[in-house]
Amino acid sequence: MDTHPTAKPQIPDELIENLIRSLEHTHDEECTCEDVYAVVDEFAEAEFRGEDAARLMPLIKQHMELCHNCCEEYEALLDVLEKSQSA
Ligand SMILES: [Zn+2]
Repeated sequence: MDTHPTAKPQIPDELIENLIRSLEHTHDEECTCEDVYAVVDEFAEAEFRGEDAARLMPLIKQHMELCHNCCEEYEALLDVLEKSQSA
């Protein structure tokens, strides 16, 4: 018996690999501020390019929702990207 739905979601392999890797890497642990700082520029750039950064790095997103410092860092980076675009 096949319990899987017939329609497969169209998610790029690369995205799934990143997701699995990030899940494996952090496992049950929450992100630390250091973890977030290490990738916050990537996160902001992905968001800026219109990619779903929160889905690519769910734990980073989760941390930023709980941590004002990291959230501010992210917003500052987004601000810089937006300004560099319009310059
Ligand atoms: Zn933090």
